[in-house]
Amino acid sequence: MSMSVIRDPDVIAGYLSDASNVTGHAEALVRPGDAREVAEVVRHCQAQHIPLTVTAGRTSTTAAAVPEGGWLLSTEAMSRVLCIGHDHATAEAGVRLGEFQSAIEAQNRFYPPDPTSRHECTLGASIACNASGARTFRYGPSRAWVEGLQVVLPSGEIREVSRADEVPADWPTLRWQPPATKTAAGYEPPRSLLDLFVGQEGTLGIITRATVRLTDLPHGVFGVLAFFASRDDAVAFVEHTRSHARADRTGALSPRCLEYLDAHCLDMARERAEGVPDGAVAALFCEQEMHDGVSEEEHLEAWFDALTSCNALVDDTVLATDGTGQARLHALRHAIPAGINEAVVRNGMPKVGTDLAVPDGALRDMMDAYEAAPLPHALFGHIGDNHLHLNLLPRTQGELTEARAFYDALARRAIAAGGTVSAEHGIGKLKRHQLGWMVGDDVLRQFQALKRHLDPAGILGRGNILASPRL
Ligand SMILES: Cc1cc2nc3c(=O)[nH]c(=O)nc-3n(C[C@H](O)[C@H](O)[C@H](O)COP(=O)(O)OP(=O)(O)OC[C@H]3O[C@@H](n4cnc5c(N)ncnc54)[C@H](O)[C@@H]3O)c2cc1C
Repeated sequence: MSMSVIRDPDVIAGYLSDASNVTGHAEALVRPGDAREVAEVVRHCQAQHIPLTVTAGRTSTTAAAVPEGGWLLSTEAMSRVLCIGHDHATAEAGVRLGEFQSAIEAQNRFYPPDPTSRHECTLGASIACNASGARTFRYGPSRAWVEGLQVVLPSGEIREVSRADEVPADWPTLRWQPPATKTAAGYEPPRSLLDLFVGQEGTLGIITRATVRLTDLPHGVFGVLAFFASRDDAVAFVEHTRSHARADRTGALSPRCLEYLDAHCLDMARERAEGVPDGAVAALFCEQEMHDGVSEEEHLEAWFDALTSCNALVDDTVLATDGTGQARLHALRHAIPAGINEAVVRNGMPKVGTDLAVPDGALRDMMDAYEAAPLPHALFGHIGDNHLHLNLLPRTQGELTEARAFYDALARRAIAAGGTVSAEHGIGKLKRHQLGWMVGDDVLRQFQALKRHLDPAGILGRGNILASPRL
């Protein structure tokens, strides 16, 4: 091996868990500096039948980055931004996504995918997990923006893959219909070879470099935090603005994100910040980009009309067109993760967070189901995509078991409604059973056939998406 192989358990210990709080085990760690070195590691592990797990920012909530033995390959030494042009930007896989985006925005261009973890997670992993965020409502998930990848296949072959490349004819095909929602669950039937490496969670190849498409940086954005005295009014507002945004992407009322906060979130915000009205039981955080040909007054008027017609508490609405408004909004929004983290520390129990999405028509039913949670909880997230995160906050081991069972029941409900068991965080090692319920045995066999074809010994990303075969 031309690079150093770290076997010091104290160093390796820092790489054994991710944001899921699951801890794995590994015998060695390597930090290759380029695709050639990655390929060397892969070939060595294949020859010796050593499991190999790619580890990046370790923000996965599904134990995807947690090794099941063998070697860990960290992408941290591949973190250079290589080129930023007008239409495309290229970087190595291990660059922090937020850093990559800041460099692009400094050139007045824009790469929209915005997972909340963007300052901690990496570009390569965000593509490997098809990460999304609030702006996905307008711009779609990472998949929509990837134009080229350099990938090391499980055989050790280095491939440059573009959108124009077809999947080789002798590779097993995937014949299934993913849910018509935002989804990051399982291998999607690829429209090109490139597509196959997006959302594969480190099981089909190691991304070493990525080229993404850029768009115009919006020349202005304002935020709106609107409060409602009834949940149904908030949902009606979502349906109203969503239909406007879909009908006219550059109209006066065309939010780029629609984010929900329930009554429990608002209680957390009341304890930590000012400005939450007494009568409010739900809120929506929205962002509107300023579009050419529409004046600021026209934008604001369209928002005011929509808020009024859906019974928002208009006088209490926080409008962030300037630094003061933005600071108020930030304080209010920041209070929710802070409140949840404090509850987790106080309870000494992990939270259980859902990642389900459903079609438009099932949103209200799904919200009813979330609200019937039998233990303390907070519901928030990407309501524009019918993708809410229910955060269950168990206080005892018994409640933790109850929370997990409740999550499974919700997953079955989302599946029955035509939804997905993972809209953005992926399947990893913790949601394989839910993926099985969603796709069924025949599709799981299709996934296995593809995986076996590319990685017959099953060394890469063991335990993610599919159960690990015996080595
Ligand atoms: C607070 C918080 C907020 C989050 N918010 C969001 C959100 O808004 N939207 C969202 O989609 N996700 C979110 N996530 C989940 C997580 O951040 C994403 O899945 C992210 O893409 C993981 O990136 P990472 O660099 O941390 O990867 P890791 O956690 O290290 O790895 C994740 C998976 O990707 C694989 N992998 C890593 N790099 C590569 C590579 N170069 N090639 C192939 N496979 C690779 C790993 O093997 C693993 O399977 C959040 C997580 C946290 C903790």
